[in-house]
Amino acid sequence: MFARKVLDFSKYAMLPILMIAFGIMTLMLRGTAFARAFPYYHSFVLIFALITIERVYSYSRAVSQKHMIWRDLMSTSVQAFIAAAVMGAVVLPILHFLPNTFLGRRFLFGLSDQLGPLWVQVLAVYLLSGFWQYWIHRLEHYNEFLWKLHGYHHSVTHIQITNVLVSNPLDWALRNVLGGLVLGIVGFNPIAIVIAGAFNPYGDFSHCGGDMKGGWLNYIFNTPEVHRWHHSAEFPDDPMFRYGCNFGVGVTFWDVLFGTFYLPKDEKGEVMAPPRLGHPSGYPDEPNYLKILFAARAFPAVARFFDRKEESLPSSVPAE
Ligand SMILES: [Zn+2]
Ligand SMILES: [Zn+2]
Repeated sequence: MFARKVLDFSKYAMLPILMIAFGIMTLMLRGTAFARAFPYYHSFVLIFALITIERVYSYSRAVSQKHMIWRDLMSTSVQAFIAAAVMGAVVLPILHFLPNTFLGRRFLFGLSDQLGPLWVQVLAVYLLSGFWQYWIHRLEHYNEFLWKLHGYHHSVTHIQITNVLVSNPLDWALRNVLGGLVLGIVGFNPIAIVIAGAFNPYGDFSHCGGDMKGGWLNYIFNTPEVHRWHHSAEFPDDPMFRYGCNFGVGVTFWDVLFGTFYLPKDEKGEVMAPPRLGHPSGYPDEPNYLKILFAARAFPAVARFFDRKEESLPSSVPAE
């Protein structure tokens, strides 16, 4: 009985505890020889912790993603090692051009002190980056072309940590990298950016495939309970949600503020879960990463190229 109670409580507490632990870990290891030798240690620890949680708190409506493992690995590697770097290489010179030309310096504010005390800057970076992600994500649902790119992320049939970065790289970088670059040239204290980032893991936690509960944190952070509705195969039946709901990436309070938050509860007050996850237009989950990379759904010529290639492959069904 007691063990059951502890387990139920831990469904609420596990992710917030991890958030604090990750935040402290990142701050303590910042600049150390270990962090320099293993710059991606944080991601590995996070993935390992969430895979463990997914095993312990198994979700009753989970759909196996084993056959997507190579697609997931490819997408994760491209986003982590290439997409962010390419976006930075292309966009940063353009962003630095304006202050360079008109102010004679690389940042809008020459001294970060001009932007207020450190805690104000942490708060500003936290709020502004979430605001950017919310609106870009919403635009990716409303704009026809961007929705074709972003739709690959919505084709997954179960959310779990291994598919959090499954997306076309441009779609992903617009949402998750560009805003950081824009904030980067404002001139915020780099420590403020590190602290705000260290305590913002819910973009990843939102894809935790375990049966985790959010409680009142659902209205602040993008918990798995909230994000499952973002991935529902059927958008809620309300004109406000015609293009989807719960667009926040790490936080949900922008959704609450702008009226796009959706989290139904049953008569007992328990949060309900969507019956099925998937693309609302019925596109199946895409196992071929190259189709996601070259955005076959957005470019008919690319789709035709893959169709021809698939037709020319020897059929596994023996000829009659
Ligand atoms: Zn989306
Ligand atoms: Zn997602």
